Amino acid sequence: MNVFATELLRWYDHHGRKDLPWQHPRDAYRVWLSEIMLQQTQVVTVIGYFQRFVERLPTLAALANADEDTVLALWSGLGYYRRARFLHGAAQLCVEQHGGELPRDLDALLALPGIGRSTAGAILAQAYGLRFPILDGNVKRVLTRYHGVAGHPGESAVEKKLWLFADEHTPARRTADFTQAIMDLGATVCVRSKPLCPLCPQAASCVALRDGLTTVLPTAKPGKKIPTRALSMLLLRDARGRILLEKRGAQGVWSGLWSLPEADDASAAGSVAARIARVGDADPLPAFTHVFSHYRLDVSPILFDHAAPLTAVADRPDRRWCDRGEIASLGLPAPVRTLLDNLPEISP
Ligand code: SF4
Repeated sequence: MNVFATELLRWYDHHGRKDLPWQHPRDAYRVWLSEIMLQQTQVVTVIGYFQRFVERLPTLAALANADEDTVLALWSGLGYYRRARFLHGAAQLCVEQHGGELPRDLDALLALPGIGRSTAGAILAQAYGLRFPILDGNVKRVLTRYHGVAGHPGESAVEKKLWLFADEHTPARRTADFTQAIMDLGATVCVRSKPLCPLCPQAASCVALRDGLTTVLPTAKPGKKIPTRALSMLLLRDARGRILLEKRGAQGVWSGLWSLPEADDASAAGSVAARIARVGDADPLPAFTHVFSHYRLDVSPILFDHAAPLTAVADRPDRRWCDRGEIASLGLPAPVRTLLDNLPEISP
């Protein structure tokens, strides 16, 4: 076994995380689900979501058979909802094409929606014990520093180099533990700012530590200013306290989630609301900003109390008046749920 792997596994045996819920049992469905949830999200946040998800949908078959609203409701708050829709679609493909199992083959895994090379590697290594490397954000950080690799890890030439290092270090024995160990090292010791080098099993050979580069590696992404969009969200609340929700289309942000009707700005809000319900005075609520990876969204919410459904507006499957219980069971974008949770009492 190579020195990097030997040192890392020795460290893992004493300090690694061995009580994460997806490690018991460490089957392919649970490894896959955890890997997808852990993209862009920290372990402490994921644990609760993971437990609720597997309690409701304990197997790949259960996920494949669930309706999309159930899956999105379980994902609600984790963000990046495309991940949940890909997960759902991939489970259905596994049932149709792979006998209800995640395939043990790299190319077949990569052909499933939402599974990239690192996630496929984690499934093959952790669930099936096969020798495949992984390269998630934590691993990139460790390898960038250990080997002193300059350049943003998102650049393809840098990423290619890191994959070669990841492959070189991955041992044929204890592959599952090794992949967990290198993720743990990145998450708990070789952390983004102020890595805990005196506690690191790789300190003796680490280029970044030797050359004083731990604060500059990995190289930051070249600066990019993200644009801002603005809109109004309309809270139409009827006399019973029900809120009008609309299911968003299949494209764009928050696709497939239930959200509020929108208008381009506050001046257009009244006419948009009047097309849906009979409304009285508009009551502006505090504005907020939600930041996506590619733009900022400035939201001005407007409350229309005592709205009355218009009989001329036919019921639609993608538009409903929902009470608190229904709202709790639907998949909503996190900022919309927060907004609804903090609504003022209905005016007399
Ligand atoms: S010695 Fe420091 S910088 Fe190098 S891998 Fe370990 S924690 Fe990261």
